[in-house]
Amino acid sequence: CSAAARSYNITLLPGDGIGPEVVAVAKDVLSLAGALEGVELRFQEKLVGGSALDATGVPLPDETLDAAKGSDAILLGAIGGYKWDNNEKHLKPETGLLQLRAGLGVFANLRPAAVLPQLVDASTLKKEVAEGVDIMVVRELTGGIYFGKPRGFGTNDKGEDIGFNTEVYSASEIDRIARVAFEVARKRRGKLCSVDKANVLEASMLWRKRVTALASEFPDIELSHMYVDNAAMQLVRNPKQFDTIVTNNIFGDILSDEASMITGSIGMLPSASVGESGPGLFEPIHGSAPDIAGQDKANPLATILSAAMLLRYGLGEENAAKRIEAAVTATLNHGFRTGDIYSPGTTLVGCKQMGEEVLKTVESLK
Ligand code: ATP
Ligand code: MG
Repeated sequence: CSAAARSYNITLLPGDGIGPEVVAVAKDVLSLAGALEGVELRFQEKLVGGSALDATGVPLPDETLDAAKGSDAILLGAIGGYKWDNNEKHLKPETGLLQLRAGLGVFANLRPAAVLPQLVDASTLKKEVAEGVDIMVVRELTGGIYFGKPRGFGTNDKGEDIGFNTEVYSASEIDRIARVAFEVARKRRGKLCSVDKANVLEASMLWRKRVTALASEFPDIELSHMYVDNAAMQLVRNPKQFDTIVTNNIFGDILSDEASMITGSIGMLPSASVGESGPGLFEPIHGSAPDIAGQDKANPLATILSAAMLLRYGLGEENAAKRIEAAVTATLNHGFRTGDIYSPGTTLVGCKQMGEEVLKTVESLK
């Protein structure tokens, strides 16, 4: 490495509920891990979600989107809460997140689901099945049946009400998500499973054809295909067979939630949304948890692990990412637990102290 520090601008979007608490902790971890690996990070903080609605009347102010677009990566806390569930203007905090994703052009959603050895008992599956599970679901985020046209309500020729949607994928949409997935698999264990319904759906037939054709560009990756019904079954029967999974928007929505439930630890799971160029968006998969907000009870590890994904997939800073992940592992080995992952014999800590324990470990790692 050169002596000159590599430097990046990070936009922090704390958001609502426990968002500000977990982002504050993750920022300190990110900053220290970066500094120790020769990476200088500069931070700017902006409003999004309910807090932006209260302050500006919209869930994604232009200033926030412009700042986010102009930075190298974005770390988001969480958005929403019952406070805004029935607001008069019918503007939802969650709209801010959809607008942010659209504005950034992020089409690939990366959701890891790993069963950590220290938390294997939290898994919804039997210990023998859960042990060692380490899956990454790569979900297409901006196409498919959630966006396809035509869509709507109407009547059929019997005069009965109907609702209809359309699954559409173009070759270029498939190629770009597949490329991301092959690259992700390359950074992991080199196995990619493409999930589709190519025995029934034309959009899936094209999907399988394009993914298969791309495989020649990635001879080091072992590619397989699976129908989605079988994949849903295999995820609970023998999840260890999977490394990286790539799939369309709707199947990915379902399978990524299924995979995260295997771990049983919502407070531990990070995510990334990335595009072709431009900054990626990194956030924990959990929501704003209004029931525990402001009480220093939130588990910050999902956001800290999102910061590690930011370094790896957003900035290409693998060493700093590894340093954070190793620190999280070590902190769990030291026995520290927030309430959501507590078990007898471990040490119960709050959000802030969990952050301090991770910071100590980040510093002490070689
Ligand atoms: P959203 O619709 O925003 O996804 P949600 O209602 O689906 O929200 P969460 O806000 O994620 O779900 O909360 C679900 C439950 O998990 C709540 O009881 C919450 O307290 C708990 N929880 C979520 N995240 C954390 C965390 N980081 N630490 C501790 N508990 C958490
Ligand atoms: Mg939810």
